[in-house]
Amino acid sequence: MNDTLKNRFFSERIRKLEEKLGYTFKDKKLALSALTHKSFVAEYDKDLEDYEVLEFLGDAVLSLIVSEILIKKFPHAKEGELSQLRSAIISESFLARLARKIDLQEIVLLSKGEISQKGMERDSLLCDVFEAVFGAVYVDSNYFIDPPRQIFNRLFKEYILKCIEEDDIPRDYKSLLQIITQRRFGTVPKYRFISAKGPEHEKIFEMECIVDKELKTRGKGRSKKEAETKAAKEAYEILTEEKKDENI
Ligand code: MN
Repeated sequence: MNDTLKNRFFSERIRKLEEKLGYTFKDKKLALSALTHKSFVAEYDKDLEDYEVLEFLGDAVLSLIVSEILIKKFPHAKEGELSQLRSAIISESFLARLARKIDLQEIVLLSKGEISQKGMERDSLLCDVFEAVFGAVYVDSNYFIDPPRQIFNRLFKEYILKCIEEDDIPRDYKSLLQIITQRRFGTVPKYRFISAKGPEHEKIFEMECIVDKELKTRGKGRSKKEAETKAAKEAYEILTEEKKDENI
């Protein structure tokens, strides 16, 4: 690509991002960087900055914004309940859902290899770009929280509160399971690696969750954490089902 084409290609994406956010970047380089995956830098342009530092910052920005929403909505909630809710909302799968609402999968810049493996559809990647976008707005606003907070609230607050009300947010099954096992057995679940199969970028992990001698469950996923969460979910469901039976 020559420079004119490249600039047009980039400015089109930046324009789309600005349109989705309803925000105009003072520093367009920040917007571009928020959309740039490291695979794109390696393949096309070594002078570009990828989104990783903005993602790091955006993670904290979103945590703060979401904390404020929760504290105002649930003024009487306990710290433990608030932090459970917050971690569900800033979880990979939920933030990826928000990212899709503003079509970030259509504008993220990836290498050909990543595109052919549908990298833009992966929750982990979409969550990272989403964080980076809010990190970029924060830096672009001279580290002032109001602009990213206003954008986030305008676009997502109502939706998030509706999801909470309808119990439509991912649960953190590892913490839920731990709460139950501590209460019932005075122990915490242990996790054990079982296997990792498949080619490097498409590995499927299997993990075992050990509650006690009697109760062991397994789960598979694209990361150890995802596999652990699935195993924890199964153990959690077994334990809470038993509880229902006891009540009858
Ligand atoms: Mn991240």
